[in-house]
Amino acid sequence: MAKSVEDNKENMMICKDFCGICPTFKENKLKESPPHALFCARGKSEIAEKIVDKGCTCFGCPIFKRDDLEGGYFCIYGLEGKK
Ligand code: SF4
Ligand code: SF4
Repeated sequence: MAKSVEDNKENMMICKDFCGICPTFKENKLKESPPHALFCARGKSEIAEKIVDKGCTCFGCPIFKRDDLEGGYFCIYGLEGKK
């Protein structure tokens, strides 16, 4: 079972290294729209419907492994990830 991810500074620092280098994140300038990052804790991007999928780097993120997350693409699909 996936654990819920906390919206805290420590997790944000980790997310920066993975969402931050993600081609989807860069291409769609996700940083500029709320919630900016840490989508696995905060939910999908406000511009989720407009996001062009260029791949997801969540799968290499230590939070993804630590909290047994599934699916990835949290910026598009919200807390549950892609099904
Ligand atoms: S949730 Fe996945 S697809 Fe979205 S910006 Fe982060 S790494 Fe990229
Ligand atoms: S699993 Fe994805 S959205 Fe969550 S912290 Fe890691 S890179 Fe960011």
